[in-house]
Amino acid sequence: MQYYFDHNATTPVTAGVLEAMLPFFGTEYGNASSIHRFGQRAQAAVERARAQVAALLHCDPTELVLTGGGTEADNMAILGTVRAGLRKSRHVITTAIEHPAVLRTCQALERGGVAVSYLPVDSMGFLDPNEVRKALRPETVLISIMHANNEIGTVQPLEEIAAIAREAGVVFHTDAVQSTGKIPVDVKHLGVDLLSLSAHKFYGPKGVGALYVRKGVSVHPIMFGGHDERDPRPGTTNVAGIVGLGAAAQLAAANMAVESRRLGGLRDRLEREVLARVKDAGVNGSRLGHKDGRFRRVPNTTNFYFDFIEAESLVIALDLQGIACSTGSACAAGAVEPSHVLTAIGLPAERARASIRLSLGRLNTETSVDVLLATLPGVVERLRALSPRTPAKVGASQQSK
Ligand code: PLP
Repeated sequence: MQYYFDHNATTPVTAGVLEAMLPFFGTEYGNASSIHRFGQRAQAAVERARAQVAALLHCDPTELVLTGGGTEADNMAILGTVRAGLRKSRHVITTAIEHPAVLRTCQALERGGVAVSYLPVDSMGFLDPNEVRKALRPETVLISIMHANNEIGTVQPLEEIAAIAREAGVVFHTDAVQSTGKIPVDVKHLGVDLLSLSAHKFYGPKGVGALYVRKGVSVHPIMFGGHDERDPRPGTTNVAGIVGLGAAAQLAAANMAVESRRLGGLRDRLEREVLARVKDAGVNGSRLGHKDGRFRRVPNTTNFYFDFIEAESLVIALDLQGIACSTGSACAAGAVEPSHVLTAIGLPAERARASIRLSLGRLNTETSVDVLLATLPGVVERLRALSPRTPAKVGASQQSK
């Protein structure tokens, strides 16, 4: 048996979504820009999907740009806003814990002379809205702050930050790739101007997403081509993918309340029992689920450290037992860099390198959690017995010198 605990990396396309998409790989192959009936049917399907996504976000369908995924939506939001700003000197505010889709886009802007402030978060993974207020400059054109973090799941207080952005007259973007479909994401309630989402994080297909652009906000196109000069996202429309995004949005809205409660329960049990069974382990970041009626962490995500081992070895050893999970580290030029998120919440590099993410979803049941709980402690113990970093071993090797 295989047990999948990596739903923040991607999710499987569910049966209902696949079923909705299939005709568009077969008989309904029209180009949505064509004026004949094949094209009209394709265009109608795209508009239906747009309405389904709009219903999930509580926005108007005309406020959505359909994109080739979350990374593209983030690029479009950030580059498109900065290019729309007429001022010569421009400044962007973001956080140190963003996904590379935001961080690397900001770094590219810096190379072009735009100033960027990367705000710190506290040891629980939360940004203090006052930090945003303090970072504002007369030339600030954009604030981009993620909703839920992909590694530790913390949910930022976007409503408070939106109020600060509005007061300052600065465009506010959020990367909601890890929250959309998992917890309520209401653009009006959050007060954001721009919001990115991605279908494959909530049981839709890969390579399709959307950018919400509040009416009245100007985003310059970052790509050029056919079919419509005014469309900020040119190119032949990915009809099947967009139909899948729409179907996934509709299913997410219908299942969210029940599924988020179920996953929150599984995640909390997993945390309690792992901490009870494994010594020298802990949860990275906040363990809060809700506070003051708001989600402070997405219910499916947890991130553990297991001191004295390398997370990569643990992920591989668990994979050999049929359990899929991930590390937050990126392999750069052969060296394993500690996760920038775990470093930002204050973990020493060694502990960050000993951390894994478990992200639950539709494929997980009490049984899969039971299997994980039966497997993990033994695997950790075995790896520790082999690790030169385990204290008893350190002592032994010092004695033998
Ligand atoms: N933003 C966040 C927070 C993510 O977790 C991801 C994907 O891992 C992305 C953006 C990128 O989305 P996509 O894979 O659709 O390009």
